[in-house]
Amino acid sequence: MRVLVVEDDLMIGRAVADGLRTGGYAVDWVRDGTAAELALSGGPYDLALLDLGLPRKDGIEVLKSLRRGRSEVPVLVITARDSLGDRIAGLDCGADDYLVKPFDLDELMARARAVLRRRAGRACPEIAYGALVFDPVTREVVFRGAAVALSAHEFAVLEALLREPGAVVSRENLEEALYGWGREIGSNAVEVYLHHLRRKLAPELIRNVRGVGYRIARIE
Ligand code: CA
Repeated sequence: MRVLVVEDDLMIGRAVADGLRTGGYAVDWVRDGTAAELALSGGPYDLALLDLGLPRKDGIEVLKSLRRGRSEVPVLVITARDSLGDRIAGLDCGADDYLVKPFDLDELMARARAVLRRRAGRACPEIAYGALVFDPVTREVVFRGAAVALSAHEFAVLEALLREPGAVVSRENLEEALYGWGREIGSNAVEVYLHHLRRKLAPELIRNVRGVGYRIARIE
């Protein structure tokens, strides 16, 4: 999952970005409204966390132009403006949810998961596909009845493959799920994590679709 954090406050931005990275998300962070627009126009994001009080361009304006451009990226508004009017304006302009500062990082993570879940059309967080059960909330993975311990990167790759279980995911999309901007990407990093996943789960679980990408096989 790739997340854009739009927050001009250094301390909050860093805490949010670090928290999300620890949670296994790939994170890009920008600090003004114009940079946010630029990033959102080019980047394939699964979620944007958008502060409202921003330099250069107000968060509400960023949100409005995003929705005018028919972008459907889920947006979680983070704002210091604890006024009913601002929260209503945010939601009416196309935000999926909001958080009022100061907020707890755990609550931010829970709301992010809830927004992503709703957008995926699921009320229940758990994904079950054949003998594989994947819970993005507890970060538990169970295969054939046994719990499997995964690293944050292995988890991120598996999560990307399970977004639409059985659908082919390109190598680029897997890389995007793993890294934000400016991170070193080893040329075979994706293959390394896929190798780990096959070893920990089952070799036949992740299929290589030649020239296209990878998909999860439904196995019992
Ligand atoms: Ca701000």
